[in-house]
Amino acid sequence: MSKKFFRRKEQREKKKIALERIDVLFNLAERVFAYDKGLANRYVEIALAVQQKAKVRMPRKWKRRYCKKCHSFLVPGVNARVRLRQKRMPHVVIKCLECGYIMRYPYLREKKERRKAKK
Ligand SMILES: [Zn+2]
Repeated sequence: MSKKFFRRKEQREKKKIALERIDVLFNLAERVFAYDKGLANRYVEIALAVQQKAKVRMPRKWKRRYCKKCHSFLVPGVNARVRLRQKRMPHVVIKCLECGYIMRYPYLREKKERRKAKK
């Protein structure tokens, strides 16, 4: 088999490992959040570093669980406010209560994304 084939396989492996690490880190963040917010945020930072280095997409499960601005781990009802809005386009509004940053996620696009992901 060609070298190219192996390189591609290696890349795929690296991305797979990166995604697994991100999942582990966010799970840890979720677990420690209640008693050590600072540590939870550290895990988010590490997960983001792993994600950027491996150039993988943030898994949808965790995409909305951290602030895009201050990178705090977010728990809806604790340090994040989640609202649904129907104006113009149906969207979810998530406000980080740590820094006040507001994130909007249209759910029409999300639905499309999900359909794409299934294929
Ligand atoms: Zn924030």
